[in-house]
Amino acid sequence: MGKPTGFKEFSRQTEPYRVETDRILDFEEIYTEHDESHLKTQGARCMDCGVPFCQSGNGCPIHNLIPEWNDLVYRGRWRDALDRLHKTNNFPEFTGRVCPAPCEGACVLGITDPAVTIKNIENAIIDRGFAEGWVMANPPAQRTGKQVAIIGSGPCGLAAAAQLNRAGHAVTVYERADRPGGLLMYGIPNMKLDKKEVVERRINLMRDEGINFVVNADVGGSGDNAVDVEQLIRDNDAVLLATGATLARDLPIPGREGPGVHLAMEFLTANTKSLLDSNHEDGNYISAKDKNVIVIGGGDTGTDCIGTSLRHGCKSLVNFELLPKPPAERADNNPWPLWPRIYRVDYGHAEAAAKFGDDPRVFQIMSKEFVRDDSGKLLGIKTVNVDENIKEIPGTEKTWEADLIFLSMGFLQPEHYINESLGMDTDDRGNFVANKEDFRTSVPKVYAAADCRRGQDLVVRAINEGREAARAIDIDLMGSSQLPG
Ligand SMILES: Cc1cc2nc3c(=O)[nH]c(=O)nc-3n(C[C@H](O)[C@H](O)[C@H](O)COP(=O)(O)OP(=O)(O)OC[C@H]3O[C@@H](n4cnc5c(N)ncnc54)[C@H](O)[C@@H]3O)c2cc1C
Ligand code: SF4
Repeated sequence: MGKPTGFKEFSRQTEPYRVETDRILDFEEIYTEHDESHLKTQGARCMDCGVPFCQSGNGCPIHNLIPEWNDLVYRGRWRDALDRLHKTNNFPEFTGRVCPAPCEGACVLGITDPAVTIKNIENAIIDRGFAEGWVMANPPAQRTGKQVAIIGSGPCGLAAAAQLNRAGHAVTVYERADRPGGLLMYGIPNMKLDKKEVVERRINLMRDEGINFVVNADVGGSGDNAVDVEQLIRDNDAVLLATGATLARDLPIPGREGPGVHLAMEFLTANTKSLLDSNHEDGNYISAKDKNVIVIGGGDTGTDCIGTSLRHGCKSLVNFELLPKPPAERADNNPWPLWPRIYRVDYGHAEAAAKFGDDPRVFQIMSKEFVRDDSGKLLGIKTVNVDENIKEIPGTEKTWEADLIFLSMGFLQPEHYINESLGMDTDDRGNFVANKEDFRTSVPKVYAAADCRRGQDLVVRAINEGREAARAIDIDLMGSSQLPG
């Protein structure tokens, strides 16, 4: 424990983001430079609790050794902090940027005071590691002669690939998109997680460690880029499905068909691809410039639609939420160390407020009908207010003007062509059946992990399952494993 009285002396201060009105002018990351002395002070607030709830239970899903690296940062031992961090997390530069930080919700200091700024410290450790040249490719000394194919290159597939490669297996990652990274590449926008500087930097390191990436490879698909899944199973000792939960929830109300209404991922994926391909010069994206935009649904995806629309220069922006506004403080039925279900202002909400003067969210509102003119052009949307039980309140009907509407209401399940072609079992929610101990599916040699196994969740949980699945596969291939779970 760095400073026994640190939590009494210093108050929580998160690292600031760039000023809202500046950052909405570009797609550069929203973060500011790390300030070492500030981080030391924040690290000093850690109480090094006897039972560190931050790193277990409801806290960090990958069990980052948080009190240890808080202490090392306080003492200025950044290299040691980096080594501790990499013991449990393959990609702290991803989680340090995008994780909602369940660790902070479970921080013991949070019972009486604001939690330690764990996520900021994690991000600073890994950024320092890259800046100093401490993060280098570390290929395995020996190869086992076993071959593993991983389908899907999101955080789960990447974490599993890194671990299985470390164990000496020959790993090939197949990705149907034109760039690896899964939702790290084509879901989460560039301002939250830089694609070239951060995502590709790590993937290039993994290539240098011997991992093979095959892009434009649609395993089990039927188009030009199809890869035969049965052949893949024959050619490999194990195949891990890490295909994500990419099937989005739609809104089948009158007027859904026609221009102007898009699933969030159509908007976000095309935006990032066009940004990376041509800095938006190819025009191959849905532009919100000068448009009245409505985003239906919240969460990270809704916030990312808000942030992206603002960067295009939208004329107005409203965000519909079906549920009531969360309380400012934890409710009685939501005690520590559970994840606090409280009102939060994410980066996109703050940006909209800075540009238009108000938080864009409207709570307890239900969409009833998309309004179109005779030619089918989108004019707006009809809504009605609802009570806490999602019951419509008569007399609250309203029509909102809109040129573009994005649907961000969550994701249902994985797409099903791989499992159908293999005759693989799915559960009643449509996810691939595999348990969390051995990750085996009903098809011999085929494993499944993360969002395709349990539904869309978080980057850190996908990393966790990728690591655990890698260990399970290693045990099946070798009889035992040195890999951590
Ligand atoms: C817009 C958005 C923003 C988000 N923001 C955050 C955030 O800020 N913080 C957070 O923690 N979580 C966030 N999430 C959730 C998080 O990104 C996911 O939970 C996580 O990426 C899941 O990882 P995964 O590896 O299981 O799958 P994915 O990241 O979904 O990757 C699956 C990959 O498999 C590929 N694939 C699928 N089928 C095939 C096939 N047949 N052949 C070849 N490839 C295939 C897909 O193309 C995809 O690249 C966000 C999600 C979205 C949609
Ligand atoms: S990965 Fe997420 S939960 Fe774990 S320490 Fe980092 S911010 Fe906290």
